[in-house]
Amino acid sequence: MIPPKFEYVAPTSVAEAAKFLAAHPDDAKLIAGGQSLVPVLKLRLAKPGYLVDLGRIAGLSYIREDAGKIAIGGMTTYADIKSSALLREKCPLLTETATVIADVQVRNRGTIGGSLSHADPSADMPAPILALDAELKVVGPKGERLIAVKDYFQGMFATALAPDEILTEIRVPVLTGQRSAYLKAARRATDFALVGVAVRMRVGKGDVCEEIAIGITGVGEKAYRASAVERALQGKRLEAKAIEQAAAGAVDGVTPLGNIHGSVEYRTNLAKVYVARAIAAAK
Ligand SMILES: Cc1cc2nc3c(=O)[nH]c(=O)nc-3n(C[C@H](O)[C@H](O)[C@H](O)COP(=O)(O)OP(=O)(O)OC[C@H]3O[C@@H](n4cnc5c(N)ncnc54)[C@H](O)[C@@H]3O)c2cc1C
Repeated sequence: MIPPKFEYVAPTSVAEAAKFLAAHPDDAKLIAGGQSLVPVLKLRLAKPGYLVDLGRIAGLSYIREDAGKIAIGGMTTYADIKSSALLREKCPLLTETATVIADVQVRNRGTIGGSLSHADPSADMPAPILALDAELKVVGPKGERLIAVKDYFQGMFATALAPDEILTEIRVPVLTGQRSAYLKAARRATDFALVGVAVRMRVGKGDVCEEIAIGITGVGEKAYRASAVERALQGKRLEAKAIEQAAAGAVDGVTPLGNIHGSVEYRTNLAKVYVARAIAAAK
């Protein structure tokens, strides 16, 4: 289908973009890589009068180490994440995740900021971002603020971003001394996650789990931390039986959703199986 008619706006600064959004509260939408927004427009699920292109704003695409963290610009593409030597060395969880998202064309256009703003319940990136306890820098007409990822995802396609705010940077920790893995179950190689599990953990002497963080996507209305599994493994030896028992809590406190791609029962079981496999893969 052909998208509805819109005006194209190309601001050259984040402040200008935020000002434009604030002046057109119900009628303007940001566009980054367009990999989610364009299909939405073509299906006429949204009919914004203005598309505000972030692509003409300099300095929103970068990956750099900054004060013990890695800062990733909101307009950084999956392809850039996948090929970043810094991330491969210091935060390979993001490299691994970017590698299994969509196909080459989508990875060349799609941005981390676009994915986290869109907050599709089956998107991959929210899982590692939760497991990494990331911070999200957003800029609006009143200035900038930092949002802890635990407060960011609020529901299906819903985040803590205000309509006139722009996600400009994602800050993740350096994972030196930690182990990590992202495992995704999908029907075909380029599909969204039926279930995606990101694990980050610190393992001490005797295979004891000193710290563990698990982000899960694809199961419920939004990505979440598998807190019950984390609690069950904290301070325990990472033996196969302990992992399997802990993984049984993968959907505790969550309402799994079913659709044509997978029933509630199927997703629930997949979540448990993939949590156990992701921990084993990270170990
Ligand atoms: C064929 C295909 C396969 C796909 N497979 C997968 C997959 O396997 N896994 C997966 O996770 N995703 C998949 N996707 C979805 C895609 O990865 C992302 O949703 C997409 O890349 C979002 O980023 P974008 O830059 O394209 O955002 P856009 O489509 O430009 O924007 C998406 C939304 O976010 C808003 N937005 C964008 N940037 C910002 C910002 N910086 N601040 C605030 N709001 C912003 C826009 O207004 C819009 O509402 C697939 C998409 C396609 C077309």
